[in-house]
Amino acid sequence: MERSELMAWLREGRDEFLEVLWRRADTTRRRSVGDAVHLRGLIEISNHCSRRCHYCGLRIDNRALERYRMTADEILDCAVQASQFGYGTVVLQAGEDPGLSTDWVASVVRNINPGAHPVDRKDRGDRPG
Ligand code: SF4
Repeated sequence: MERSELMAWLREGRDEFLEVLWRRADTTRRRSVGDAVHLRGLIEISNHCSRRCHYCGLRIDNRALERYRMTADEILDCAVQASQFGYGTVVLQAGEDPGLSTDWVASVVRNINPGAHPVDRKDRGDRPG
């Protein structure tokens, strides 16, 4: 979808036109994942962030937030618990935390699942390398 078309859809308010968009989205959803529901565990490994996204409570300027960063053992325990609860996969999520090195995160991922692809670029935000 071109940017101009996307912007037009974001501004669209007429139900009869939105119905077309929703049908297209539902068709894409059914083609991609079918009707099954896939549950994925989300582990928030750190709420530190060096960014200033205005809508987000984790932004660096939010001094009222009590910050935390999980240890590797805590993350592994959560992943084991998620597996016991029946989640097939987990996502590790954090703010743009300079205290989390790519190598450290990769080693945590390998400990959770030795066969896993360690870190996908899109999961690392906009960090270099
Ligand atoms: S956690 Fe993400 S959305 Fe929130 S301030 Fe940081 S970069 Fe922005």
